Amino acid sequence: MQFSNVTLGKEAELFKIVGDNRIKCTACARYCQIPNGKIGLCGVRGVLDNKLFLFSYGKVISGNIDPIEKKPVSHYMPGTSIYSIATTGCNWLCKYCQNYDISQRRKIEGIELSPHGVIEMAKKYRVEGIAYTYNEPSIFMEFAKDCGVEAHKNNIFNIFVSNGYLTPESIDLTKQFLDCITVDFKGSGEQNFVRKFIGIPSSDPIFQTIKEIKNSTKIHIEITDLIVPEVGDDLFAARKLCKFIHDELGDDTPIHFLRFHPDYKMMQFPSTPTETLEKHYEVAKTEGLKYVYIGNVPGHKLEHTYCPECGMIVVQRLGFDIVSWNLDIKNRCKKCSYPIAITGKPKKIGIRNRFKILMN
Ligand code: SF4
Ligand SMILES: [Zn+2]
Repeated sequence: MQFSNVTLGKEAELFKIVGDNRIKCTACARYCQIPNGKIGLCGVRGVLDNKLFLFSYGKVISGNIDPIEKKPVSHYMPGTSIYSIATTGCNWLCKYCQNYDISQRRKIEGIELSPHGVIEMAKKYRVEGIAYTYNEPSIFMEFAKDCGVEAHKNNIFNIFVSNGYLTPESIDLTKQFLDCITVDFKGSGEQNFVRKFIGIPSSDPIFQTIKEIKNSTKIHIEITDLIVPEVGDDLFAARKLCKFIHDELGDDTPIHFLRFHPDYKMMQFPSTPTETLEKHYEVAKTEGLKYVYIGNVPGHKLEHTYCPECGMIVVQRLGFDIVSWNLDIKNRCKKCSYPIAITGKPKKIGIRNRFKILMN
């Protein structure tokens, strides 16, 4: 791809010089080898004067205040508010993307917001955390890192909502600032699905990423899996994913099976039937996972947290709100004292005020 309307942004940190006058970007598992004057597949990283630049550094295209539960994150800092930001571009080409206007835009656009400016916004809206979301954050890793380091100085935590298509080099940078990651599988990472509907050759790097994050960092991990009816709802693939999570990440790793809604180039597909999601729930439970959820189905009984020992509802939810909290001061089940793997506790219980859309 050629440059269109880029500003220089900032020189990237994640790269290697390779032969043939090319620079290899190491921010994501695409590992684009970019010649001088060209940009990588994500549209935001490119080579000028034999240097790799992150053109979208400090260019924020979307910013909203969300509940953390919307990410979805259910076992880390429940009840908190999050400043969610994104840039343009993405390293995936999902045919169902709900944010395609942002993610598939190959123009660098957005308001100028330095890391300091991002933190000022977070402080202004009194949020507890910042989420790097809507498009894949690893493609703007250097910007996220600078925001995240500044956020920590202000007692604000950092979350990635990521497709997990990272590299050992980019995982290394996350160690400086990242507190939580929710890795979004689609169609349980089944190979035919990811090739046809996402445009990546293999889902293997996602599995490697989460294994490495688990083994080399203290970052809290949650997994989501978008279940797409007819083409991305294979129970065998879901079982394989759940087995992996159980064996490599631990049985207390939360997993959320999300309902698909028709969007972008997949308008002809229906929404995922609730029964399909319930079948995935059963698979995860039989594989021994303790905290399994169904997402995008507000009011469903599987959006609550159940005690794995006695079965009581320990956290009752309604959509993104926590409506009852039945854990003691150490986050143990009030009925049987089983320790529930949740970090933090909500300051308030009940329906929260509406959240703000700042810009889109
Ligand atoms: S971040 Fe962008 S440029 Fe870098 S390897 Fe991934 S798609 Fe290519
Ligand atoms: Zn219990």
